Amino acid sequence: MILRALFLASLAAGLIACAQRLEQCWVCQREVHASVRTTLILASRKEVVACCPRCALHYQEEPGNAVREIRVTDHAGGGSLPLAGAFLIEGSDETPCMRHHPVADESRTPMQVCYDRCMPSLIAFREEAAARAFATDHGGTIHRPGTVAPPRSASP
Ligand SMILES: [Zn+2]
Repeated sequence: MILRALFLASLAAGLIACAQRLEQCWVCQREVHASVRTTLILASRKEVVACCPRCALHYQEEPGNAVREIRVTDHAGGGSLPLAGAFLIEGSDETPCMRHHPVADESRTPMQVCYDRCMPSLIAFREEAAARAFATDHGGTIHRPGTVAPPRSASP
């Protein structure tokens, strides 16, 4: 009886872990990493999750895609803030969306990535000091709030 209860408990824990791991980008179907989780609020007010700010911006740039707001995760402290109010580090060595997409040929020789919709990576911060500290450790260029593709109005 105890073994059965333990089995059911571990099964439930496993299912919960799987469900938590399965959050996928609404745009590109990649796994969403918590540190760069991005929310797109569409013109219809529907909220969908994107894997990272870069992916969300690509979606917004595509003709016919009306986006009311993009909200990003503060990489340092967590929590959500508007993309337009975030300090962004572009092109650092932190590339969460590439973790599960190793690019190599049959001989396992790494190949250079020429294009990826999530690259160069954009990592968001609420505080400038945190963004600068991150760039010191991971490289990349800092963009002040609102200087990377400011949000367009969703209405025509
Ligand atoms: Zn994506």
